[in-house]
Amino acid sequence: MAGLILDERDQRFVLFEMLHAEKLCDFPKYSDFSRDIFEMILTEAQKFGYEEIFPTLAESDKEGCRLINGQVHVPECFHRLYNIFCGAGWNCMSSPQEYGGQGLPFIMRIASHEWFMHNFSFSSYPGLGEGAAHLIHVYGTKKQKDTYLPMMTNGKWGGSMCLTEPGAGTDVGNLSTRAVRQPDGTYLLKGTKIFITGGDQDLTENIIHPVLARIEGDPAGTKGISIFIVPKFLVNEDGSLGRRNDFEVGKIEEKMGIHGSATCLINFGDNGQCYGELLGEERDGMKIMFQMMNEARIATGLQGLCSGSIAYLHALQYAKDRLQGSSLMDFKNPEAPRVAIIEHPDVRRMLLWMKSNVDGMRALMYYATVCGDTAVNTSAEAEQDRLLGIFEILTPIIKAYCTDIGFRITETAMQVYGGYGFCSEYPIEQFMRDEKIASIYEGTNGIQALDLIGRKLGMKKGTYFMHLLGEMNASIARTKDTPELKDLALDVQNAVNSLAETGLFFATCGKAGKFLIPVGNAYPFLMMMGKIVSAWLLLWQAEIAISKLAQIAGEKGIDLSDKSGLAGFLKESRDAAFYDGKIKGARYFIKNVLPEIEGTIKAIRSEDLSIMEIANESFAV
Ligand SMILES: Cc1cc2nc3c(=O)[nH]c(=O)nc-3n(C[C@H](O)[C@H](O)[C@H](O)COP(=O)(O)OP(=O)(O)OC[C@H]3O[C@@H](n4cnc5c(N)ncnc54)[C@H](O)[C@@H]3O)c2cc1C
Repeated sequence: MAGLILDERDQRFVLFEMLHAEKLCDFPKYSDFSRDIFEMILTEAQKFGYEEIFPTLAESDKEGCRLINGQVHVPECFHRLYNIFCGAGWNCMSSPQEYGGQGLPFIMRIASHEWFMHNFSFSSYPGLGEGAAHLIHVYGTKKQKDTYLPMMTNGKWGGSMCLTEPGAGTDVGNLSTRAVRQPDGTYLLKGTKIFITGGDQDLTENIIHPVLARIEGDPAGTKGISIFIVPKFLVNEDGSLGRRNDFEVGKIEEKMGIHGSATCLINFGDNGQCYGELLGEERDGMKIMFQMMNEARIATGLQGLCSGSIAYLHALQYAKDRLQGSSLMDFKNPEAPRVAIIEHPDVRRMLLWMKSNVDGMRALMYYATVCGDTAVNTSAEAEQDRLLGIFEILTPIIKAYCTDIGFRITETAMQVYGGYGFCSEYPIEQFMRDEKIASIYEGTNGIQALDLIGRKLGMKKGTYFMHLLGEMNASIARTKDTPELKDLALDVQNAVNSLAETGLFFATCGKAGKFLIPVGNAYPFLMMMGKIVSAWLLLWQAEIAISKLAQIAGEKGIDLSDKSGLAGFLKESRDAAFYDGKIKGARYFIKNVLPEIEGTIKAIRSEDLSIMEIANESFAV
C-alpha cells in the first residue's frame, strides 16, 4: 500500500533537505538522538500507520461508539490498537523522560503522527491523554505530577479537555459550571459540559479530565475561570484507584463523521460529590487551558494535512487506474484506446492543485514546529523571542488554513473519483465526513481568523509579523536571480509586499475607528495569508529541488534543457521525478493559486461593509 497515506519522500525532504531537523540534535536535550534515529522512527511510524492504524479506519466508522449503563464503549478494534500504540510509546514521544516519556523534539511527534492522524477518531484518545498530562506537567504541583503523570504517560490513564457547555461554545467565558471550595482545599464541581471528545471510553483504567469552572464568588467572564483536575476514579495515597467520581455521561452525540470518537455530554456533580483539585492558581484557568488549546490547534491543523494527504494520494492512484475516454489528441476517433483519467487536463488540474496544497501545508506545519522546537531550546534570547513569535503568528493559520484546505482537498478527491467517490465502497466519502469537524472544533476557523488579525498581527507592535515577512524576503532574495525561479520569486515578492501592505491597512483602519473592515475581512485575510506562506515555502522547496535535480542530471550526463530525453530520465530516476514534481508543483501554485489573493485584496480595499449594512430581515424575507 505504498504511497496512500502520505508521500514519505516528501516528508523526508521537508525534514532533512529543507529544514534540517537533525540539527535539533545539537541541543543538549536531544543529544541522544540523531538523523539515523529520526529516520528509523519514521520508518516504524509508516509501518504502524499502514499495518495497524489504516485498517481500523472503516471498521471503527461502521461500529461507532455506544453508551451502555453509563459506560462508553469505543469500537472494539481500538482496544488492541491502543495497547500496542502505547506499548510502542507513540503516545508519549515528546513527553518528559522523567515520567516515562521519550523526550523527542515535537517535530518528530508531528511527523510520526502524520502517519496516524487520518484516523482521527483513534488518535484523539491518546492525543488527549498526552495533552492533559502536559498541562499537569507544566502547571501541576509535585504531588499532582507524581500522582498522575506516570500513569498518563504510559497510557494506562487517559485524558480529555472539558470547556464547552450549551451556553458556552465560542464564548467560553460564559460558562456556568461551578466549583465550591472545601475545607480540605479540594473543590466540589457542578455543571454540564457538552461535546467532550473522549469524555468517557473503555480504553483506559482511569480518565483525568481538566475541567473549566468558576469558583463561587469569582467574577463573570474569562477572568473568573479556574481549571480543575477531575479524575473518573479518585486516586488513593498509594496510587490505587478509589471511589468513582460523581459525574456521568448523559449521552454521546450522533455525528456526521469521526464515529469512533466518543463525543460526550457529561453531567458533573448531580449528587453533590464531584471531586476536583485545582490546577495552578485560582482564576488562571483560561491561561492554563490555552496551553492545551494551542497544542490542540496544531493537532487539528495536522488532521487537515493528514486528511488532505490521504485523499490526494487515493485520488492519484484512482486516476492512474481508472480508464475513461480517449486522449484529447484522439478525440475524433471513436476507436481510440481508452486512457487512464490522469491523462485528461481537468483531472491533472485537480491532482496538481491537491499535490501543491498538500506539499505547502506540510511545509507550513513542519516549518512552524521546527521554529517552536528551536525556540524552546536556544539560549539566545532574541532568537527565542523571534522564533516563538513566528510560531504564534502561524498557529491560527495552521489550524484554519490546513483544516479548510484539507476539507477542500477531500472534496476535490471525490470529484476525481466521479460517482464512485460518493459511494461508501471507496474511502473518500469517509475522509470528507471525518475532516469537516476540524474547521469547527478547537475554536472555529472564523475565531482563528479573529485571533490572527486581533491579537497576533499586532503582537509586540507588529514585530513578530515583521519577523515572518523577513523570513519570506530572505528566501526571495536567494531565488530572485536563479534563472528558473526569477519569475516565481517576483510573484511571491509582490504577494509578500501586498501582505505587508494589507497588514498596515488593517492597522490604519483600526486607528481610524473603522475596525469592522479588519474584523469583517479576518477570514479572507487568513486564507490569503495561508496561500502566501504556502507559496513562499514552495518557492524555497523549488530552490532546493533545482540544485538537486541538476546534480542528479549531471551525474547521469543528462542535459535538462533537452526535453526529448527528460521523460525517460524522470521515469528512470525516482529522485529526479520527485524534484521535478517539486518544481512543477511550486510553479503551478504560484502561477495558478497565488493570484487569487489579488481578488481578496481588491475586496478588502473596497472597504465594502454590505455584511453589516444588510438588515437581519433582508437576508431572506
Ligand atoms: C465532534 C466534536 C468534538 C468536540 N470536542 C470538544 C472537546 O473535546 N472539548 C470541548 O470543550 N469542546 C469540544 N467541542 C466543542 C467545539 O469546540 C465547539 O463546538 C466550538 O468551539 C464551537 O462552539 P459552538 O458549537 O457552541 O458554536 P457557536 O459558538 O454557537 O458558534 C456558531 C457560529 O458562530 C460563530 N461565532 C460565535 N461567536 C462568534 C464571535 N464572537 N465572533 C464571530 N463568530 C462567532 C462561530 O464561528 C460559528 O461559526 C467539540 C465539538 C464537536 C462537534
